[in-house]
Amino acid sequence: MASSMEKVVNLCSRRGFVLASADAYGQLAGFFEYAGYGAHLKRNVEHSWWDCFVKHREDVVGVDGALLLPRAVWKASGHLDAFNDPLVSCVKCRSRFRADHLVEEELKISVEGLPMEKLGELIKEHKLRCPKCKGELGEAKPFNLMFKTYAGAVADEASEIYLRPETAQNIFTDYKTVSLASRKQVPFGIAQLGRAFRNEIAPRNFLFRVREFTQMEVEYFVHPDKLNECTLPESLLSVEIAVLTAEAQEKKSEAAIISFADMIDKKIIGTKWHAYWLAECVSWLQSIGLKNKSMRLRQHVSGELSHYSRETWDVEFNYGEWGWKELLGVANRGDYDVTQHAKASGKDMSLFDEASKQKFVPVVIEPSGGIDRVFLALLVDAFEEKPDKEGVRNVLHLHPEIAPVTVAVFPLMKKDGLAEKGRAVFEELRKHFACEYDESGSIGRRYARQDEVGTPYCVTVDYDTLTDGTVTVRDRDSGKQVRFPIEQVEQLIRNSMREFTNV
Ligand code: ATP
Repeated sequence: MASSMEKVVNLCSRRGFVLASADAYGQLAGFFEYAGYGAHLKRNVEHSWWDCFVKHREDVVGVDGALLLPRAVWKASGHLDAFNDPLVSCVKCRSRFRADHLVEEELKISVEGLPMEKLGELIKEHKLRCPKCKGELGEAKPFNLMFKTYAGAVADEASEIYLRPETAQNIFTDYKTVSLASRKQVPFGIAQLGRAFRNEIAPRNFLFRVREFTQMEVEYFVHPDKLNECTLPESLLSVEIAVLTAEAQEKKSEAAIISFADMIDKKIIGTKWHAYWLAECVSWLQSIGLKNKSMRLRQHVSGELSHYSRETWDVEFNYGEWGWKELLGVANRGDYDVTQHAKASGKDMSLFDEASKQKFVPVVIEPSGGIDRVFLALLVDAFEEKPDKEGVRNVLHLHPEIAPVTVAVFPLMKKDGLAEKGRAVFEELRKHFACEYDESGSIGRRYARQDEVGTPYCVTVDYDTLTDGTVTVRDRDSGKQVRFPIEQVEQLIRNSMREFTNV
């Protein structure tokens, strides 16, 4: 019996949402292509993020930077030396594994935050063998995750360039120029949505761990003395969510449901700006339809923090059989990146505070997420197998704002002028919504096809339409059909989209 994750992966492939890249030549692990409904859904999520975090804000500027950056940038940022995963190889069959994942899977323990040497010791102590051929495993070694190439015809250190493993670094190198050109003063943010690349040792879990993915990041620059000068609106303070602190993880306690107001009052989270951005991320994820009960916040334990981080909180999603996994993270990067780039480039990257007439280096709060992980989470969260007369049908309860198709239009029959009328209704509605026209197969099959790709509304044109100008509008989630005059359908759908809730 297939698990629900297998069913979602199967749906993605059957309905062409996601394809293995270069499939005709044998799949290259960790690379995928989004197509058709999948490409629409991904775009809708990206637009929603950009609208919420950039377009509708006064304090955030968007950038769209280069994917390849020179060696000097990655040396300064620390990625050349520290952006590594622990690699362990089989001496016999030469298969390569991520040492932390291998230990977790074989010993069924969490190794979050353990250093490389400790992983090596655990492998030796428990005499762990290669999961493929049972051969002996070698030493655990650091493996750098960046893809390297060269700019120009000469392949030497000076021409070394790297595909960015995060979108953040273009922002740090450009931040002062962008802030001056856009006349922004702290607190302000620079956001980027674009591709990032990591040469993952073992890409797996479908879209969850891939080698090329889309990141969405905001680097929010705050005066170091003003990290608590932030007023969260009531709409964010009242957001309640399951929270797993570092302390709770050490004590092996469960996550507790708590509001952002309490997280701030009880100083569970270091600074107010950090709490603010975490709350904004949770609120955005809710707004695109993720259920609250499918998410939790988890604080990084000390050994787990990235080389640049002072404090990090992840928003995790319950991926069912894969367990809780990171969807996005909000880190306090301190002044690490700006200081590093200032030192390495020799440029003055500090800002000037008009009030105190002093220079300062801002602290950065960074909400950073991956579209691909959000895409998969949305599908997992929305997927339902509904029993019906013919067995079961798949339904994706996607939020209407991000569903690939908003309205499908069907003529009851192709004959008697119904198809012509159906197309006329479709032509009208497609001016306002992502629309699809379908006249093949029984109405039941057409509903089922749309349910499976998450279309929230289906409009059917029948014989009454020809006489009284009304159509039926079927709601995906309730299955209810209501008759309306054609000219009211657009407004009805708009109202229904606005009122949609997915608890
Ligand atoms: P993980 O611990 O799962 O490898 P990470 O902590 O290295 O993730 P970050 O460096 O914080 O990830 O990257 C920010 C976001 O980018 C992550 O929250 C995730 O959504 C996304 N991301 C990172 N690596 C991948 C990947 N290999 N495939 C898909 N998305 C990724």
